Order: sequence, then structure tokens, then C-alpha cells
Amino acid sequence: MNKKTSIETIVKKVDKEQTDKLRMWMEENNITTGINIDEDSKRYYPYSTLASNVIGFTGSDNQGLDGIESIYDELLSGTKGKILKITDARGTDLQSEGEDYVKAVDGNDLILTLDMNIQSICEKYLTEACIDNECTDGGNILIANPKTGDILALASYPNYDLNNPYEINDENLKNIWDTMESSDKSNALQQMWRNKAVSDTYEPGSTFKLVTASSALEEGITDTDNSGEFNCSGSINIAGTTIRCWRYYRPHGAQSLRQALMNSCNPVFIGLGQKIGVEKYYDYLEKFGLLSRTGIDLPGEANSIFLKESKVGPVELATISFGQRFEITPIQMLKVVSTIANKGKSVKPRLVKATVNSTTGERTDFEVIEGEQVISEETANKVLDMMKSVVAEGTGKNAQVQGYSIGGKTGTSEDGVNTGKYVTSFVGVANTDDPEIAIIIILYNPTGEGGHHTGKTLLQS
Ligand SMILES: [Zn+2]
Repeated sequence: MNKKTSIETIVKKVDKEQTDKLRMWMEENNITTGINIDEDSKRYYPYSTLASNVIGFTGSDNQGLDGIESIYDELLSGTKGKILKITDARGTDLQSEGEDYVKAVDGNDLILTLDMNIQSICEKYLTEACIDNECTDGGNILIANPKTGDILALASYPNYDLNNPYEINDENLKNIWDTMESSDKSNALQQMWRNKAVSDTYEPGSTFKLVTASSALEEGITDTDNSGEFNCSGSINIAGTTIRCWRYYRPHGAQSLRQALMNSCNPVFIGLGQKIGVEKYYDYLEKFGLLSRTGIDLPGEANSIFLKESKVGPVELATISFGQRFEITPIQMLKVVSTIANKGKSVKPRLVKATVNSTTGERTDFEVIEGEQVISEETANKVLDMMKSVVAEGTGKNAQVQGYSIGGKTGTSEDGVNTGKYVTSFVGVANTDDPEIAIIIILYNPTGEGGHHTGKTLLQS
């Protein structure tokens, strides 16, 4: 100490074990004045890594710094207690004056929508999938109740220990941590804390064919089972540009809409996009909530990246129709799937459903915020039925679970142009006749043996 102050805080957030040692040392050495140990409180997270990228953590003054802790800081923070006493200029108590004690008030409790069992299961299998498939950029699993928008699970890999948020979880970085520049350390920590499902965008690929199918059905342009309505010759010519089907080497031939979705045939969806037209297509993007943030209660939500409507020509519309050359957030895609699962009506996703006043015990429920009817119930049911066929007999066969009627759609896309990186994903609903869950699973850049073709990679795990 070389400062001239009456009171100086040496260290905060010390565990009791250590202060016990200090107390013992003071006793042994007969030190009775000069060192003061004040009781303090500190956040403790009993499930350490569980939902870490959602919950976030607090700083040295218990202020929320990330996630739920940050966005609901005001509700969670209580009022600090105080001891008011009178001292002389040197800081010595004037005992005769007495002291006033102002009691601390606890913060409120939040009731999250997350289901601990579902969240744990998602984290377990996401970790396995990311390790098995050697995903260099991690992964996400999101599950919502489509009727309420309640997020039941939002799993990220990698995650971190909420009780030690400044400890890096990457073994390679751990070894060189002490030699790293502070800016590199800060970047690595930001990356580890990041909630990619909300703060980052990705190219959805073929899962987006659900949006094109929904819009085309709603516009009455097609129906699910018109035998031979479309024809895949392996490629399609759009304004002088040839766009290939992924199975150009053995074209799909005559297809109904259902078959095209089951086979994930590109030319069929490109053709539908042209029939819908740019203006109508963008109307549906807006209705599905793809041109704005979902408003989920988390900090740092990103928005989608689409070309301006006025800049979209036939080729651009073609690529959008099968899910390429634009980016959305995983939470936006989850909202799309939830809308289809909820009879065509959109609901705002949320992570907190109620708050409980710590003094009175009174519970205040947050309202479910319903959006518009994006597509009719009839259209939604048709899409769900086709999603069922994708899992029963199409590219999503690995998602079958006996006793459940599951619907889904797979997707693979490039992560950026010419990066050589891929994103592989699956969106699904269960049960298809009255869905209680909507799910999206994303693996970022799987480099393992399974390759990046969703049907295999993802659903093996
Ligand atoms: Zn095809």
C-alpha cells in the first residue's frame, strides 16, 4: 500500500476458504485492526456449462455482461445494502454516533422457457456430432414450441464454464495462453462466448426450399401431388445462365412438388421462384420475418443479408429459391419452421416466460406475442405432410424415430463464396399432425469422413 486513503479495497470475490486462511493468520499474529473482511455476494451457476451461451455471466460488480444476464440485468439486480456510519478524518469510527443499516433487496427471479432435460440432451449430442464430424466452426441445435415461441433448447458448441468465463476452453489456446497478446485473448474469449444462433448468419441451402414451396402453394401456383407437373433435366437455363441440379449426372426427370422436395431437386424450385416473381417472393420473405430481426430477448441479434429487392434479377431470384447467395440467422430459420408447424401463424421467439418478485413472491407471466397468419392452415398442413415424406422416404431418412411422425428437410451450403467451407443443417417438426416441437440443427464446416452431405453427416449422430 502506498496510497493515502482511509479505506482501500484490495480484492473482491474471494472464496470463503481463502478468507478463512486470512482470518487464521490474523489470529495467529494477533492482528486485530487494519484488515477488514466484508461479506459480498457472487453469482454461482450450479450447472456450470449448461446453456452458457444463452445465460451469459456477470462482472465484478455483479452487473450482467452477456446473454440473459445482460438483457435482464435491471430485473435481476437488487438494491445493494448499506451501512452508514460517521468516522473522523482518519476513518476511525466515532462509536458514539451509532450507525444506520439499510437492508439489501434481492433481485427478481426469471423463469426461462428452456427445458433443462431437452437442453442437456441437445448439448450432449451436439458435442458428439461436432467432435465426430470434426466441425471446425462448431454447431447449434435450437428447439422451439411452435405454439408459444418458447425456446426449449438453444445449444451451442463450443460452450464454456459460467463460473470461470475468462478461462479459455480450447486446449490448443490454453497451452499458449500466457504468451498471447491481450487483443488475441480478448478475441478468443468473445468467440467462445458468442451465441452464433442469434448473432451470426449462415446460408440455409435446401432447407429454404420450404419457403419457396409454402409461397408457391399459398399462391395457388402448384399442388403437392400433380404427377409429372415438373421435369428435371439436370439443369435449367435462366436468362442465359445454366444452373445445375445437384444431381445433374442423373437428372430427376418427371416430378411432383412432393417428389421434388423429397429429392431436393433444384430446377423445380427455381422454376417455382420464377413463377412467384420477385415482388411476391419478397412479400413472403417479409411475412415469414426474414427481413427483420426476430426480437428474441438476447443481446446482439444479427439481421439477415438479402439483396435489395430492386437489385434482384432472374438469376438472383433463382439462387434465392433454392436457398443460396443470401444469409439468415439460425433463429430466423427456426421461426420459419415454427410458423409452418403452427398452422401458418408466426409467433415471436422468447427465452423468458415469467418473473417472480423476490419480496412478495408474486409471479408475472409474459404474454405470448403472436404475429400474422403468414400462410393458410391448409398450406401449412400440405407443407408438413411433404416434410413427413422427406423423412419417411426422401433425403431425411436418418431422422426417423419409431413411433413418432417426424417431418424435416436437409440442407447443405457453402459458407461464403469459394471458401471451401460448408454448413450442413436439418430442420424438423414432430409430430407432423400437431407439432409440439420445431427444431434446427446446424454443423459449421464438418471436415470429417462423413463429408458435408447432410443426409449422412448430421443424422448419423
Ligand atoms: Zn433435379
